Amino acid sequence: MERNSSRRSFLKGSALTGAAYVLGRRVLARPNPLSVIVVGAGAFGGWTALELLRKGAKVVLVEAWGPGNSRASSGGETRIIRATYGPSRIYTQMAAQALRLWQENEQRWGLKLFFPTGVLWMTGKDDSYERAALPLLRDAGVRLEKLAASDCAKRWPQIKFDEISWSIYEPDFGFLAARRCCEAVFNAFLKEGGEYRQAQAAPGRITGNRMEGIILTPGESLTADAYVFACGPWLGTVFSFLASLIRATRQEVFFLGTAAGDVRFTDAQLPVWIDNSRRGEHFYYGIPGNHWRGFKIADDTRGPVVDPTTMERQISAAGLAAARRYVSMRFPGLADAPLLESRVCQYENSADQNFILDRHPEAANVWIVGGGSGHGFKHGPAIGKLVSDAVLGIKAPPAEFLLGRLVK
Ligand SMILES: Cc1cc2nc3c(=O)[nH]c(=O)nc-3n(C[C@H](O)[C@H](O)[C@H](O)COP(=O)(O)OP(=O)(O)OC[C@H]3O[C@@H](n4cnc5c(N)ncnc54)[C@H](O)[C@@H]3O)c2cc1C
Repeated sequence: MERNSSRRSFLKGSALTGAAYVLGRRVLARPNPLSVIVVGAGAFGGWTALELLRKGAKVVLVEAWGPGNSRASSGGETRIIRATYGPSRIYTQMAAQALRLWQENEQRWGLKLFFPTGVLWMTGKDDSYERAALPLLRDAGVRLEKLAASDCAKRWPQIKFDEISWSIYEPDFGFLAARRCCEAVFNAFLKEGGEYRQAQAAPGRITGNRMEGIILTPGESLTADAYVFACGPWLGTVFSFLASLIRATRQEVFFLGTAAGDVRFTDAQLPVWIDNSRRGEHFYYGIPGNHWRGFKIADDTRGPVVDPTTMERQISAAGLAAARRYVSMRFPGLADAPLLESRVCQYENSADQNFILDRHPEAANVWIVGGGSGHGFKHGPAIGKLVSDAVLGIKAPPAEFLLGRLVK
């Protein structure tokens, strides 16, 4: 079974990487395709399973409660897809790639999953993050407009731009219909030949640097050549050595109702918006009303650590009051808007908020994928490409996502 790991074993894992890629190519060249079990059918696991299948692997997807279920970090109605990522080249490029892939696949499936409302990223006095983003956005081929607050106010009079110095507007980005995306990826996986098991999986015994299999509740074992654990906020319970590296935090989301006939706060007239003007204090973002649902608003500030299995998902009075204060200030037309719906979700935060994509330090045939840290959903298709390339020995994962960086 899985044991605690030291920095030495992480480094040992990385040192194995080169040799294992050669092995990966050899395995791929075999007449029998590589068999892979992917545990978790959220944005990361679902896309990984589909991409592995498309690259010729035989894939079984194991999921405890279903793709995009109500406990999963990928559950819920909508997620933002934007490319502004401050000084991070890797996320800027991945977001641009992911947008293309979402669009290609929705066309292939004949579904509407992506909604190009545009994304308005507002900045305040300290605009270093946004200034760092601009050249990277241009390098990644992302169309953008740099707008003064006065221009924004003319264009979107329903927003009050107090304390905003300027904004980045990404006209080609917007939001994804999250739960429906998970379902679409899952249906494509089944249609393209994948096998699905609804069960809870636990890692099996590791001997000679390989995991022998996984154990499904209530006791059946499954074996494959390789295993991918994309268990989102559960990664720290599945592997105890990850408990201090990935923490699930409680996050509240509110949906407010507009006046009858008022479309100023819907996707007909408002882009997705992100307010970075009070970084460090709070970081509100939202998605305009869509599909006749409410105006979504949430604070990205990390909440208390929670257990994603047992957490009661009820919003707090304090969270709602804070959201209302913010809305009254930034969207005065919604000051008296009633709460229509709410959600309590969790972020699966890695210690540095960056993704994790690496081998298990003690088992070369096991991959750990996660650490979406509140911004992972959009990247699902790009993650699927990276993980499938890594598992099949086509390309090593980016250094930014290796576990060793988190182990001091
Ligand atoms: C409120 C909120 C707002 C967000 N907003 C955005 C946004 O606007 N844009 C964006 O890009 N990202 C956003 N995110 C982040 C993003 O949704 C997540 O980073 C991403 O969905 C994580 O996907 P995942 O596949 O790693 O995890 P999950 O979706 O949690 O998937 C893990 C899956 O593994 C299954 N599982 C776990 N353990 C086991 C086991 N032992 N056996 C079998 N199955 C198991 C679970 O049931 C689950 O379905 C937001 C997240 C939240 C909570």
